[in-house]
Amino acid sequence: MTTSSSAVGLLAPLWPQPFRTTPTCWCWNEEAPRIATATSFVGNLADVSRPTSPTQSFVSEDGVINARARVLGGGTCINAGFYSRASGQEVREMGLDAELAEKSYRWVEEVVAFEPQLSEWTSALKDGLLEAGVTPYNGFTYEHLIGTKARGTTFDHYGHRHTAADPFEHADPNSLTVLLRATVQRILFRKRGGQTPQAYGVLYSDEMGGMHEAYVKDGSAGEIILSAGALGSRQLLMLSAVGPSEHLRSFGIDVVLDQPMIGRGMSDNPMNIITVPSPQPVEISSIQVAGITHSGN
Ligand SMILES: Cc1cc2nc3c(=O)[nH]c(=O)nc-3n(C[C@H](O)[C@H](O)[C@H](O)COP(=O)(O)OP(=O)(O)OC[C@H]3O[C@@H](n4cnc5c(N)ncnc54)[C@H](O)[C@@H]3O)c2cc1C
Repeated sequence: MTTSSSAVGLLAPLWPQPFRTTPTCWCWNEEAPRIATATSFVGNLADVSRPTSPTQSFVSEDGVINARARVLGGGTCINAGFYSRASGQEVREMGLDAELAEKSYRWVEEVVAFEPQLSEWTSALKDGLLEAGVTPYNGFTYEHLIGTKARGTTFDHYGHRHTAADPFEHADPNSLTVLLRATVQRILFRKRGGQTPQAYGVLYSDEMGGMHEAYVKDGSAGEIILSAGALGSRQLLMLSAVGPSEHLRSFGIDVVLDQPMIGRGMSDNPMNIITVPSPQPVEISSIQVAGITHSGN
């Protein structure tokens, strides 16, 4: 898989800085109207024909049809906008600091999460879940609770989408450079003596295919934060010669670091579609209610 015209969320501080943009709360300007509303959700996923499409489709090794975003804001620009907190157990299992997670939730929720106004058909879905025994009804909540709930949404009351790029609006533009339409091709590593390789920069391409390098300033406390997503981060590590050595060598890649687990153990929920024919047209809305059972689904 390759991404193109994506956003870099990698470096601080960066040098050189080929161009500086004003941080933007949307994806590329020309794509913003296309991803901006709940009603454009399906169309965006279906339109993968243009090189500038915000969506890239792929099929997993298990044969599951899926999509990933290649725009600033990532999957939040193309997904269904369902917003929910993870369960306390999940936070613990991931080894996250529960207090910090709580603080982060509150901050994120101020910027990108909203209470939904239940459409007719989602109200009917809510009633159906309750009738089917997914109880109690927990009303509107961001919390992961057993039962049926109205959950948060990243679409505001006007149906406009908010994304993971929105917080850039709150960033200090003097200390942040966002490169648009930049695709990282490789992380640059240096190896001193027998030491573990150290990342010192990235090689990235611009929209015209031109190649550029950006480095952590020499002697600075800067670091490279790899944030190309659950899929892209592993892909980028492997493209940078970090991963299962045998697999990398089979592609003629000169291994920097043998890490057998990189790229392994990935799973996703398969796409399920239930089609319910309606005798009359229904209001288009994103998913607004959820039923959570003891099995975790
Ligand atoms: C159709 C669909 C509907 C979904 N609905 C929901 C939902 O309602 N609620 C929910 O919680 N989840 C939903 N998801 C899942 C959710 O969107 C993803 O799990 C989530 O976006 C993954 O986040 P991430 O940070 O791992 O990666 P991403 O969101 O994919 O972010 C990765 C970012 O890195 C960039 N990138 C990758 N490689 C490079 C590179 N080499 N150079 C530069 N940039 C790069 C990408 O362009 C992207 O901006 C949905 C997913 C799909 C496909």
